[in-house]
Amino acid sequence: MKDSMLTAIETRLGLSRRSFMQFCAAMAATMGLPKGADAQIAHALVSAKRPPVIWLHFQECTGCTESMLRAEHPTLEKLILDIISLDYHETLFAAAGHQAEAARRASMAANKGKYLLVVEGAIPTKDNGIYCKVGGQTALEMVHECAADAAAIIAIGSCASWGGMPSTSPNPTGATGAPVILKDKSVVTIPGCPPNPYNFLSTVVHYLTFGKLPEVDAKGRPKFAYSRLIHENCERRPHFDAGRFAQEFGDEGHRKGYCLYKLGCKGPETYANCPSILFGDVGSGSWPVGTGHPCIGCTEQGIGFQKPIYELAELKYVLPPVGYPHIVEEQGQGMSAGSAALVAGVGGLAVGAGAMMARNLGKNKKPDDTDFGKE
Ligand code: SF4
Repeated sequence: MKDSMLTAIETRLGLSRRSFMQFCAAMAATMGLPKGADAQIAHALVSAKRPPVIWLHFQECTGCTESMLRAEHPTLEKLILDIISLDYHETLFAAAGHQAEAARRASMAANKGKYLLVVEGAIPTKDNGIYCKVGGQTALEMVHECAADAAAIIAIGSCASWGGMPSTSPNPTGATGAPVILKDKSVVTIPGCPPNPYNFLSTVVHYLTFGKLPEVDAKGRPKFAYSRLIHENCERRPHFDAGRFAQEFGDEGHRKGYCLYKLGCKGPETYANCPSILFGDVGSGSWPVGTGHPCIGCTEQGIGFQKPIYELAELKYVLPPVGYPHIVEEQGQGMSAGSAALVAGVGGLAVGAGAMMARNLGKNKKPDDTDFGKE
């Protein structure tokens, strides 16, 4: 990249070249792009025309916007606001009332087929959608109007992706997500409550760099962020494999950082990259499970806000990853944690304690709950 371009970045964003290139490398890594993609991203961010963005808010808490703007990295909010032209955003707009709605329509008319539409919040459908109105229009009317000429549509957060919290039973307003309303359009969803800002930013950066939105799964989620179970990359996974569980909040196992499966952790049935890229940008980086709270499955329809915390997660499999280091020393004739888990899986013991139970069976010892949390 030319020196003059990097100098422009320094002036425009107040970022050092090193920080900017680190950011581009982080974006490339988040999206799992090959070597050299960081340079492509840097070039696109410097030279691509900022796409106009129409950002709608419906039934929600504004947490998705908050999550992005309050991210600790000082660069993030600047970058978001610099790489896009935020033409309409009800929370951040200085304008109000008819002025704001006129600005939205003017931007859409001037950028027909070129603007990005971002939807935040669920859309009520019951009684012709009268339960959410902005500027005299229902959310239903507004989302159809704005989607008609959008170049691409992103549903940010679980509410916009599939209904989220407002759609929980009994769902009095008939709340649902943007993909259900905009059936004839492709909508990229970034679920999470709130979603990780890097997943949104990476999606936009992908669009700017390659001229298209990233590859998505069957639920419209970018594969780079939602193709692995949280359970696969969780830092507490060695404890799960060894059968060490917190039994209650604040007990010895909880204080020692044991697995939170028995406290209702939904990591084994939730797809998201939280343990890999962390979440919340607190201090040196953390995420809910890292701080001792079980995953609530907020990115997963049917689990987040719907499956109670006291219900155990469905285990997709109980085998520990092949390359995972053993943390329990093999002793005498006892089975290793890995082979014990295999026995547990084959025997249909679909619980995280399978590994420990099978180990105990190998020692002719009856397993019981007192085994967990004792090492
Ligand atoms: Fe981590 Fe939850 Fe899986 Fe335990 S059950 S390893 S805390 S994701």
